[in-house]
Amino acid sequence: MKPADMPPPLWSFGDQPPPPALPVQAVLLGATGSIGRQTIELAERHPDRLVITGLSAHRRLDALAAARDRLRAAGGPEPAVAVSDAKAHAAAAAAGTFPRLLPAGEAGLRELAAAVAADVVVNALVGVAGLPPTWHAVRAGRTVALANKESLVAGGEVVRTAAAAAGARVIPVDSEHSALAQCLVGRRPDEVAALVLTASGGPFRDLPAAELAHVTLDQVLDHPTWNMGPKITVDSATLMNKGLEVIEAHHLFGADYDAIEVLVHPDSLVHALVRFRDGALLAHLGAPDMRVPLAYALWGERHLPLATPPLDLAAAGALRFARPDTERFPCLRLAREAGRAGGSAPVVLNAANEVAVAGLLAGRLRFVHIARVVAETLAAVPPRPVPDLDAILAVDAEARRAAAGIADRIAAD
Ligand code: NAD
Ligand code: MG
Repeated sequence: MKPADMPPPLWSFGDQPPPPALPVQAVLLGATGSIGRQTIELAERHPDRLVITGLSAHRRLDALAAARDRLRAAGGPEPAVAVSDAKAHAAAAAAGTFPRLLPAGEAGLRELAAAVAADVVVNALVGVAGLPPTWHAVRAGRTVALANKESLVAGGEVVRTAAAAAGARVIPVDSEHSALAQCLVGRRPDEVAALVLTASGGPFRDLPAAELAHVTLDQVLDHPTWNMGPKITVDSATLMNKGLEVIEAHHLFGADYDAIEVLVHPDSLVHALVRFRDGALLAHLGAPDMRVPLAYALWGERHLPLATPPLDLAAAGALRFARPDTERFPCLRLAREAGRAGGSAPVVLNAANEVAVAGLLAGRLRFVHIARVVAETLAAVPPRPVPDLDAILAVDAEARRAAAGIADRIAAD
């Protein structure tokens, strides 16, 4: 499954190292978000399994202090704290809220990712802001429990190269990729014919194309099965999330793009499937609850008891599957094409999508504009190789400028 000129995939099919001793020590990047809050909840519920030694937030100091207080109340140590937004950092420093406050901006995140004592770095940041910490963590040889898929969309190759050089492990938190890893463990790459990612289809799965032009922001944010942060909720409605996940799967498991399929499954109970060369399919099923893949990644890919209720298949009844419609949801096609093209294309795709999603959330763009902004930005930014992190971040900045101009023009139409 591995093209010859690529570094090895991030998730290894071979012998897994023994899981870390409990409690696992973790630093948590993005403590105030949806995945971050669920990580804190696991540490509160299972202090014998998980101890958080460092935390980050971007701006929300109250939520960050509340997270720290909850961890302390559960018996955890005073965590090292990074505040990435410069203004918020200055306010935190002036207030003296955090005895172990790290430097502002990327420097603090870098210290959490690569230096603060931990067995695992949980990357629950949103967007390409998650890429530098992922890269610093793997370069330092650390294990990363990765929720931040944008790290691999924009930086898959450089992260793979750095991880291979340092012998670092990346364990997927994304439910589909966690499911794939669980179906693949103990198998050999030459047994695998295809990886199949399921997609809920989002709130507009059955909406006719003509009506997509008129959907409201509230409808976009009303996801049928998962409760998540705003950006991934929008990405799920456009199916860009599944496109980003195709690229993520390519870098995690080394599969060719032709061997990564997407199946719409509105029930969100089958999270992924692996098709083997003899036609056998292994599927992973579970309730749509991120705490399950998160916990599995945190304690070193182990199924330990959780309080989450088990899935009742008899109550669920029938499971539905359908092919995705890339006419109504062009983002899935755009992502697959950008992944296949490689180089700067997935960096541009991701940056343009972030700009367009921000435009939608701010009420400047409509739902159908997102795919237009992404397609037009991909056409406007000349493709080039991106050999290192600096090159990726330069393309990201250029693509954001181009996308902002394109979004302004479309919004004024
Ligand atoms: P969220 O928006 O709820 O939280 C994002 C976190 O990142 C917050 O703590 C915020 O402070 C921080 N942050 C935002 N911008 C930042 C910046 N520029 N610099 C530094 N920090 C910044 O997001 P989420 O839904 O928790 O998703 C996090 C990641 O996990 C995303 O990549 C998402 O695709 C992935 N993921 C989420 C879910 C889910 O259920 N929420 C499921 C699968 C994958
Ligand atoms: Mg997912």
